[in-house]
Amino acid sequence: MSVAIAIDGPSGAGKSTVGHALSLRINARFVDTGLMYRALTFAALARRVDLDDGGALGVLAITCTIEVERPGPGMADRLETVLLDGRDVTLEVRAPAVERAVSAVSRHVEVRRAMLGVQRASAAGDDVVMVGRDIGSVVLPDATLKVYLTAAAEVRAARRADEMGLPDRVGAYLEEIRERDAADSGRDVAPLRIPAGALVLDTGELGVAACVTVIVARLEVIGA
Ligand code: C5P
Repeated sequence: MSVAIAIDGPSGAGKSTVGHALSLRINARFVDTGLMYRALTFAALARRVDLDDGGALGVLAITCTIEVERPGPGMADRLETVLLDGRDVTLEVRAPAVERAVSAVSRHVEVRRAMLGVQRASAAGDDVVMVGRDIGSVVLPDATLKVYLTAAAEVRAARRADEMGLPDRVGAYLEEIRERDAADSGRDVAPLRIPAGALVLDTGELGVAACVTVIVARLEVIGA
């Protein structure tokens, strides 16, 4: 039977870094569902769809094709490539406009219903490490192992400022992170929660390598 690892947690907790390193270690496919919501948000902004119109956004989610795949050789700027209707939008989906709008798009039930199918299909068959906000609670409720990664908002903001090489913006990042945490945890549909039975790790205390080691050890204990 294939192994499915669900990793959830707030923005900047290190889900992609840990999830990607884990996928390499256990030879599983890595799927970042945040990229899918970002690609849809990019499409909605480009087509000027009203971000309050769940119905229109749901139709957009069904009619456009969003795929995530392993980056080609020489693409060291990313852990995954995301395609929107066949076009590589991996860099565009990190733009500040997408960053600001993505929580508004992902809160709609019509959007989540459409994305659920895409996400489950991309987890089918192979061993997979899937990261997001509702993977253990909604997308893969029968996952082999559920992990919840967290870190203090201040730690996540400092990490972001460091990654971007903009130390002066740490205060602005902290504000954005708090807003996105509140939006993702406070929404009605599939809010960010610690799934029952999840292994909870604080990436501010443990480094990436230590988190991966703990997760692999847990997989061995449960015989996966
Ligand atoms: O993980 P990342 O920051 O790329 O996710 C961007 C946004 O996509 C999140 O803030 C959240 O609003 C949404 N998202 C979600 N459910 C997921 C993954 C991401 O609602 N499974």
